[in-house]
Amino acid sequence: MNLILLGPPGTGKGTQAKTLAKRLGIIHVASGDLFREAMSNGSELGKRARKYMDRGDLVPDEITIEMLLERIDQPDADAGVIFDGFPRTLQQAQALDKALAERGRSIKAALHMTTPDEEIVRRLSGRWLCTNCGAIFHEETKPPQEAKVCDNCGHALAQREDDKPDVVRHRLETQRPPAEMLDYYRERGTLLEVDGAKESDQVTKDLMAAIESVTASLAN
Ligand code: AMP
Repeated sequence: MNLILLGPPGTGKGTQAKTLAKRLGIIHVASGDLFREAMSNGSELGKRARKYMDRGDLVPDEITIEMLLERIDQPDADAGVIFDGFPRTLQQAQALDKALAERGRSIKAALHMTTPDEEIVRRLSGRWLCTNCGAIFHEETKPPQEAKVCDNCGHALAQREDDKPDVVRHRLETQRPPAEMLDYYRERGTLLEVDGAKESDQVTKDLMAAIESVTASLAN
């Protein structure tokens, strides 16, 4: 089972993708996490990506596609992948389909999560991440018990550079899923719309229902 979560940055794709991956027994591949790992390892890929990421711009397709294709060739991706943050352009969507087809696989559903911009700015500018285990907190909706300390592992929490309100607004302008990419999935009958502004557990339920509708129709 290969799935895609689409949506503007900050619509909750990361949180939902982690939950869905656990429930479905597939892996969660987040392009932003792969870039951040590459930057913290000091790799060549990380150096090439950094200048785009710090500005809140998209990393060029050729760099992004190469990184993602390497990831899906690792053995843990055989059972299936939920892609989060990738594809973000039509070219990336086409490259992913081609690569999956060459491996006898395909995208079963492209789940598009929608959320109003003002809600996204509120969510992202209050977001704190654990520098060790990746747990996500929010100043208003999910504060840690002790300020700037992870409830799970006790490590320090940090805000992402690109979660500052100005950069968030720029990311929203430049990183909304482009209409041509949404049309691409719509034409293939794999695009499913889910309201990402609802409460998180309800969004999970809606996403699971959408996935089940696709798998049921495939079984018939
Ligand atoms: P994210 O964690 O998904 O918000 O991604 C963080 C940053 O990584 C983005 O602002 C982009 O600079 C870069 N990035 C992540 N995924 C992609 C992608 N599919 N295409 C291009 N750039 C990406």
